[in-house]
Amino acid sequence: MNLFTYARATSVSDAVRLGANANTRYLGGGTNLIDLMRETIERPSTLVDVRGLSDAIEERGDGRILIGAAARNTSVAENRAIRTRYPMLSRAILAGASGQIRNMATAAGNLMQRTRCIYFYDREGSRCNRREPGQGCDALEGLNRGHAILGGSPACVATHPSDMCVALAALDAIVHVVSVRGERRVALTDLHRLPEDHPEIETVLEPGELITAIELPPLPLARLSTYRKVRDRASYAFALVSVAAALELDRGAVKDVRIALGGVATKPWRARRAEEALRGQPATVDAFRAAADAELASARPLRDNGFKVELARRTLVGVLRQLAGVPMSRGIT
Ligand SMILES: Cc1cc2nc3c(=O)[nH]c(=O)nc-3n(C[C@H](O)[C@H](O)[C@H](O)COP(=O)(O)OP(=O)(O)OC[C@H]3O[C@@H](n4cnc5c(N)ncnc54)[C@H](O)[C@@H]3O)c2cc1C
Ligand code: SF4
Repeated sequence: MNLFTYARATSVSDAVRLGANANTRYLGGGTNLIDLMRETIERPSTLVDVRGLSDAIEERGDGRILIGAAARNTSVAENRAIRTRYPMLSRAILAGASGQIRNMATAAGNLMQRTRCIYFYDREGSRCNRREPGQGCDALEGLNRGHAILGGSPACVATHPSDMCVALAALDAIVHVVSVRGERRVALTDLHRLPEDHPEIETVLEPGELITAIELPPLPLARLSTYRKVRDRASYAFALVSVAAALELDRGAVKDVRIALGGVATKPWRARRAEEALRGQPATVDAFRAAADAELASARPLRDNGFKVELARRTLVGVLRQLAGVPMSRGIT
């Protein structure tokens, strides 16, 4: 049995004071952390319960929306302003987990959830660099159908599991962070690290740093946006491929676009190459295909997951087509 102490934070300053000790973990809904503690993969000496911090979802006068770190996933997905101004975010959250889990899970906990790689969870039987640095990675030559084709390294090829983060990456969300050293802002696209030689270091957060809010900047084109998730079952399954995209057209051409991919990469994957390839191009299936190819040119499939390259390509083209209103009769992907 691993003994730990439990404390409930009553304010942000209280939380960061309690969280300043080494080997402390903040506790949100506990839907990931408690499982990891049961499996003894996470062994914190102190749990600081931060569910009492702000769960407000505030529309600011300058057009930003601030989501409190303790806001439940369900509340974010159901919020009227988010549903109308950022529908991709609402859809992404609703595509994840189950109703019960979304009712428990917090916004900050979703950002910080850990990989679902089966070898990571198999503490007794498998080697995993993310769990035990330097041990090796059994996924590289093992069952890797669900693993990453983008952003992997010889040390780790695990995908990032979050749906919500994929939409947040496309929306240029900003994460508000505080610690005893002060406050800072981190772009969502910079929050998660590529595994490189140190997959055990998953984010740029320092020990003790607390997420207090997620900021959605004003982004008018996000009103025309969506999230599509392809998975083995219709619900309660992690993505094989997912696409979050927003599109703005001007006289049949792509004026602006935001794209991020999930299920295929070691972090929520902002598809900047695809975006660059699309801006100024006519909104046609050929242009959508070229954009997908530009993004996926750097894909490095493993033994079992080569199908993800074509699946990602087709899913991205299908989503762009849906947003642009290009009918099926004008060519299939
Ligand atoms: C069966 C199952 C299926 C799932 N399916 C999906 C799915 O399809 N798609 C998907 O996206 N997700 C899925 N999830 C994951 C789920 O979304 C996450 O477990 C959840 O979002 C984590 O939120 P939480 O508040 O419970 O975090 P916790 O479990 O409490 O914490 C997770 C991590 O966040 C850290 N943390 C919490 N709050 C803060 C804070 N304020 N500042 C800094 N760090 C913090 C914790 O220390 C911990 O490291 C699934 C989970 C389960 C159990
Ligand atoms: S892919 Fe990453 S998480 Fe999975 S076994 Fe390898 S090192 Fe561990």
